[in-house]
Amino acid sequence: MTVNLLDFDLEGLAVFCDGLGEKRFRAVQLFRWIHQKGASQFDDMSDLAKSLREKLKGIACIQAMPVVSQHMSADGTIKWLFDVGDGNAVEAVFIPEADRGTLCVSSQAGCAVGCRFCSTGHQGFSRNLTTGEIVAQLWFAEHFLRKHLKRDERVISNVVMMGMGEPLQNYNALVPALRVMLDDHAYGLSRRRVTVSTSGIVPMIDRLAQDCPVALAVSLHAPNDALRDTLVPLNLKYPLAQLVAACHRYLAHAPRDFITFEYCMLDGVNDSDACARQLVARIQAHPGAWCKFNLIPFNPFPASGLLRSKPDRVQAFAKILNDAGVITTIRKTRGDDIDAACGQLAGDVKDRTRVMVRMERNRNLHAPLLAASGNQAEEVSA
Ligand code: SAH
Ligand code: SF4
Repeated sequence: MTVNLLDFDLEGLAVFCDGLGEKRFRAVQLFRWIHQKGASQFDDMSDLAKSLREKLKGIACIQAMPVVSQHMSADGTIKWLFDVGDGNAVEAVFIPEADRGTLCVSSQAGCAVGCRFCSTGHQGFSRNLTTGEIVAQLWFAEHFLRKHLKRDERVISNVVMMGMGEPLQNYNALVPALRVMLDDHAYGLSRRRVTVSTSGIVPMIDRLAQDCPVALAVSLHAPNDALRDTLVPLNLKYPLAQLVAACHRYLAHAPRDFITFEYCMLDGVNDSDACARQLVARIQAHPGAWCKFNLIPFNPFPASGLLRSKPDRVQAFAKILNDAGVITTIRKTRGDDIDAACGQLAGDVKDRTRVMVRMERNRNLHAPLLAASGNQAEEVSA
């Protein structure tokens, strides 16, 4: 079977090379070709011995998942849908801003947590992504964007694990993928600019602190257990007091001096003044200015039966937190016209004929872009 080299962090690649009788510096060279230069062909790796290139050709490959579709928003946001087989797809979203380029990456096809306000949660769980499939989203997007924007230097400066899935329920694949993102021989992203977002798997927050302490965002969404139980079912297992305490513990290891709490604003559900005050009390039970809030306007979808909070309600809620000294921002929605905003990443391609039609259309529309990326739509078989 062919080994996909996107599956390895540098240590893994060194072990793989060792198995071929190659020294560690060969693994570093290979790693740099793959991640810094975006090479997918061994023949392009000019400083590797020809004998090694031939050996690699027989046993290894460098390959992202096939792109099912690509949507560009008027605001510059780009969403890719990747085929991960068996009728499943996952999405990655690039969000350009003046001072940074952020890629929102998926960790699972579907999600088992089943939050009431999340379309991924409504889909149910299909499977964990492999390390290679997580890394491939960054590898593909970074090198696609460099070609597309004709830039030599890095385009993606930040990664947020806020696409589909619960990253801490795919821990063993996640950690090596984070290491690739951070590695100076690969993407060299700073720990402050790689964010894991979680619905609150308490023991895994503690493990992440030890294994790979990147920036942490926690999806809170409610100030008390009774309400959070109905929105994030995982709360029954890891109630708020435990979760908030774990976040506070994480601070000792975090690359930033705060944790970000995400709070999806749901009309008449969790957006009252009383909710805001309860939230302040809960946060201030731990001393210091140790967290920030990000209020996310809910992105509605029909099956949720929920509505987005009114803008003045969101403002009033933010004011209560800010006035109490809890720094709070309201997230801008981006890529609305291409369904690329939080919680809109559906990625469900159960109907293969529809996928093939979309890919056919996509091939015509985006042939030059796909060719530039080296990713062939033809790779998917029906
Ligand atoms: N599973 C992780 C990361 C993926 S979800 C988590 O839950 O944190 C990324 C963010 O999108 C989370 O904060 C989640 O609560 C939010 N989200 C999900 N559905 C949403 C929706 N319909 N509207 C707005 N935000 C949503
Ligand atoms: Fe899963 Fe996060 Fe969606 Fe909840 S919000 S269902 S944890 S992806």
